[in-house]
Amino acid sequence: PARLRARGLVKRFGTTTALAGVDVDLGEGQSLAVMGPSGSGKSTLLHCLAGILRPDEGSVVLRDRDVSALGERERSLLRRRHYGFVFQFGQLLSELPAVENVALPSMLLGTPRREAIDVATQWLASLGLAGMEGRRPGELSGGQAQRVAVARALITGPDVVFADEPTGALDQATGQEVMRILTETTRRAGASLVVVTHDAQVAAWCDRRIEVRDGLVVGGAA
Ligand code: ADP
Ligand code: ADP
Repeated sequence: PARLRARGLVKRFGTTTALAGVDVDLGEGQSLAVMGPSGSGKSTLLHCLAGILRPDEGSVVLRDRDVSALGERERSLLRRRHYGFVFQFGQLLSELPAVENVALPSMLLGTPRREAIDVATQWLASLGLAGMEGRRPGELSGGQAQRVAVARALITGPDVVFADEPTGALDQATGQEVMRILTETTRRAGASLVVVTHDAQVAAWCDRRIEVRDGLVVGGAA
């Protein structure tokens, strides 16, 4: 059964039509790469799918629930409870040690601090970051910081992880390693994955690929 299904998504910014009628199906545990050149509408599509933006037209259905028309408060709750996010860079709180960055989404959902820190410590260890719990983001390499971001995205047991150019700030080899960890860990956690990228080698890690041009899906099976 499809986890996430979008139909006829339209999003305009003033006179710019960022999405001109897009359909997307994301199956349970499936990974999907959204490709296309800069300005084609990839980020807008991800933001509409993830409930960050409300589309002007069309629907986004998570399981059997239409989440596209929810208000800001409900979408914020939906994101916290059901989604994880990995962005390009600078998304970790620079004043907090790695383990607290990972624990935070869990604590925001009401998990006691002690327990959240324990689970975050386990997540960091499973991603090869044992011993680095106390480091602040500025004391980590780019690849290490993205692994912390992956742990943070998964600690709440999300249905879907959304990643917007997750390798954008990394060199080729580190980017490939982060994609391996992101796809493997997300699959093992039973979550679906949407990755926005302009890089074919990054997209190759996903089960399926679609291509966006001028706000329309022009290639790949949606
Ligand atoms: P991509 O992620 O493929 O680079 P975007 O989804 O960011 O593309 O942008 C698609 C189009 O929508 C572009 O023309 C961009 O300038 C425009 N756009 C995106 N976000 C905004 C915004 N907040 N305000 C105005 N225009 C926007
Ligand atoms: P881009 O690389 O496409 O510019 P950003 O990382 O700047 O992406 O984030 C794009 C938008 O998503 C911003 O408006 C930001 O506030 C929002 N955003 C980022 N992280 C989250 C999150 N965890 N939950 C909700 N919204 C977020």
